[in-house]
Amino acid sequence: MRYNHVIKRPSLTISPPLVDSQPPETRLTRRRLRACHECDWVSALPPLGSGEKANCPRCAHTLVKRHRFPAQRSMALAVASLIALIIAVSFPFVSFSVSGVSNRIELSQTATTLIAFHQPMVAIAVIMTIAVLPALYLVGVIWLQYGLLRGRPQPFSRDIARSLSHLVPWMMADVFIIGALVSLIKVAGLAQISLGISFWAFCAFALLLLKTSQSLDADWMWFSLEGEPLAPEGTRTGTTAAAQNVTGCPTCGLINRLPANGKARCSRCHEKLHKRLPHSLQRTWALLFAATIMYIPANVYPIMTTTSLGSSSPSTIIGGVVQLLQMGSWPVAAVIFVASVIVPVGKLFALSWLCLTVRRSGELKAQSRTRLYRLTEFIGRWSMVDVFVVAILVALIRAGSLMSITPGPAALAFGAVVVLTMLAAMTFDPRLLWDTPPLRAPRPGRAATFTIATKESVDG
Ligand SMILES: [Zn+2]
Ligand SMILES: [Zn+2]
Repeated sequence: MRYNHVIKRPSLTISPPLVDSQPPETRLTRRRLRACHECDWVSALPPLGSGEKANCPRCAHTLVKRHRFPAQRSMALAVASLIALIIAVSFPFVSFSVSGVSNRIELSQTATTLIAFHQPMVAIAVIMTIAVLPALYLVGVIWLQYGLLRGRPQPFSRDIARSLSHLVPWMMADVFIIGALVSLIKVAGLAQISLGISFWAFCAFALLLLKTSQSLDADWMWFSLEGEPLAPEGTRTGTTAAAQNVTGCPTCGLINRLPANGKARCSRCHEKLHKRLPHSLQRTWALLFAATIMYIPANVYPIMTTTSLGSSSPSTIIGGVVQLLQMGSWPVAAVIFVASVIVPVGKLFALSWLCLTVRRSGELKAQSRTRLYRLTEFIGRWSMVDVFVVAILVALIRAGSLMSITPGPAALAFGAVVVLTMLAAMTFDPRLLWDTPPLRAPRPGRAATFTIATKESVDG
């Protein structure tokens, strides 16, 4: 019953992997409707060729991106990046030597050494974001695509496919590479550094992981897994989903009818559905407030302490930047300054501003505000650079009294800031920016009474 909408072409004889051989638009005659996840506008997907994408006509958010042979491509990339990860965790990562004392570390030691210094939370954050979550993601992709390529989805495919999209923002292998480069430049003048096989394997892994997540064609994948159920009867394009009491699924894109209580699950992927994320503004405010509080200890306390020949010098985030400037390595200082100061502070201000002005957003303003929201969502994870720098340096620089680095309390506080601001961006519902009626009250003047009345009715 699931594939009763599939057009079977008599001239085309396709061997078993029928499920994945043709994109959805060549197998369906009816229009496929989508509600934009960022502005709630309902539109019909056009037929797409490989390499093409369909953008929302109202806010330009990408609704669907079509790839050629998506299952084969992401299967190949996922296998390759899993192999690279296995190599990266099995060999030495990097070694250093100073005055005859040397130390060689493996990738996992960047997390385990932190536990020895009573920083288990930072250690968990490091190992989860650079290895555990990416590994789970890759195994999930391989499991899914293997089923699709065989023409018979594997068990739990639906739950795995739904979970994959939630993992993506928390995979930070690419940020770790930047952290590793910053750490190496930081100590290059003080000691001799040599890169191990694992370092290069990890670079390959980070690149392949990025390619794998980009290669997933979620639209095609969900179509192959569960078919394309009809949108609720009477759903129209050219207006918002909320106005029709329907909503677009954030994971698989299908439009679902919302019951009176506003709580539902997607009929195709079983994701939770909401007209608007519940208590979006309150939750975002609470998370922003918590992040602001955590940003104080993150800057007041030292992020790491360097002990050299018996004298210890603790350094804060800003102190580290100043130190780098004095050493003359201003590009690294700029990276740390942007990642640890500009990005988190900018994000706190940007999200607060979006929350404050959300009810005063017209159609034109909504467009620029949505762009700002996308930017804050995109850059958030790059703040983790400094936490990774601490993890790498603490593990690597172990030469007893000659030179050693220990983590400071600011590492945990700063890690919390990054996580809290990322969560704040996730709980903010950009559709709220588009909800204000575009009709604005006229300027105060001759029709003063009218203005006030209109304003009240708009705000209320
Ligand atoms: Zn849109
Ligand atoms: Zn869904």
